Amino acid sequence: MQRIFDAGCSPQEYAAKGKAIEPPRPRICFGCKIGKPHKHGFYWRFCLDGHFCLRIAIRRYRCPRCGITISFLPSFCIPKFQHSLEVLWKVLHLRLEKGHSLRWCLKKLLKRFPHLDWFPQRISFYAKRFLDNLPWLESLLRNIFPRLRLGSDKKKRAKKVLATVRLGFHEIQSPARLFHEQCHRSFLAPLC
Ligand SMILES: [Zn+2]
Repeated sequence: MQRIFDAGCSPQEYAAKGKAIEPPRPRICFGCKIGKPHKHGFYWRFCLDGHFCLRIAIRRYRCPRCGITISFLPSFCIPKFQHSLEVLWKVLHLRLEKGHSLRWCLKKLLKRFPHLDWFPQRISFYAKRFLDNLPWLESLLRNIFPRLRLGSDKKKRAKKVLATVRLGFHEIQSPARLFHEQCHRSFLAPLC
């Protein structure tokens, strides 16, 4: 099981802290709702922020009652993706909100994140995943912004959702965390 928490720092600052990372300790198990999880070490993962390949420590807890393990992922990461949330959000902004061609998106991305080594197909892949998850994102946003009006065209809806997040939150980390809490997956997860 994964939980996302606000690390309150940049990926580089987080990486520099090594294992000196303490997410808020869960008082009760998120699975059985009875056990009191205890610290269960760390695992290491990579975070590619477009400038550096960072190795970051992820704190784990384990419930002594039901045995589940809970990993606490910092909110600049997105589960199962190595690239940081900022990089992936920028991709979606360029491709779906601005409507740029794949070639132009790559050019813009490389200017901002000089260490990206991508093919255009990769941008299409992320855009498709986002569009697949669009109805859930819309539902989340409608609860927050009841006046939000969405049309029927999928691309226009995606554009509206991206603009709403950009203007309503100023950053992507908190809505991405909210989505994960409500849907138990990221907004770029494959649909089963
Ligand atoms: Zn438990």
